[in-house]
Amino acid sequence: MSQQSQETQTIFDFPGAKSSVWSHFGFYKKTTDGDRPTDELDKTYAICRQCHSKVKYIGNTTNLQSHISKHHFTYPYKSHTTHTQPKLVDFMKKLPNNSPKAMVLTKAVAVHLFSDMRPISTVESSSFREILREAEPKYTLPSRTSFRESILPKMYDDTRAKVKQEITKAMDVSVTTDCWTSNVTQSYMTVTAHLMCNWQLQNFVLQTRELPGVTGNFKILFFKLENYQAPTLLKTCMML
Ligand SMILES: [Zn+2]
Repeated sequence: MSQQSQETQTIFDFPGAKSSVWSHFGFYKKTTDGDRPTDELDKTYAICRQCHSKVKYIGNTTNLQSHISKHHFTYPYKSHTTHTQPKLVDFMKKLPNNSPKAMVLTKAVAVHLFSDMRPISTVESSSFREILREAEPKYTLPSRTSFRESILPKMYDDTRAKVKQEITKAMDVSVTTDCWTSNVTQSYMTVTAHLMCNWQLQNFVLQTRELPGVTGNFKILFFKLENYQAPTLLKTCMML
């Protein structure tokens, strides 16, 4: 049989394979005198899936491992004797959600959602998922439910705790309100705190709430201030 036809010949998995080195090898099927394939594997030679070389198979994987080591050392596999080499499959494993890389990516997606005011359903968009798959195939994007029920609420809580800390530390805090109406004529009020931190002016939007009536303004404001439990802020409010 010619080399050319061998390269196009199907290599079949060894059903009894235990060693991971068999992921790189298989067998051709035995052929009849008329060169027709039979159903039986020809176990005289193991066939390298990378270079189609025939490696003598003597019932153990010694020859196979030495072929890979000698000719395909960039393909790692776990041998029986060496446990330090990672398996090829390890390179395809998905990143655990709590791995540093996955956490960075998840946070970046969350920042994208809230800073651009994107709907949480963005994470279900096939084109959005494709971008992430191209960038990091091993990353699994959390579900819409995870973003809604745990990732975004946790980021909100963390940010709120930081803002609260800054407000509590500040000598004085100014509060401004901004009332505005949406395109569908719903009124809203945004409460913003302004303070100096290391001689830098800091602004924190405390909350935006729908404003059913004018009398609601101060109720909302007091609610926000109690919520932040900041004495300086309460003092500021009394002055309003
Ligand atoms: Zn080879």
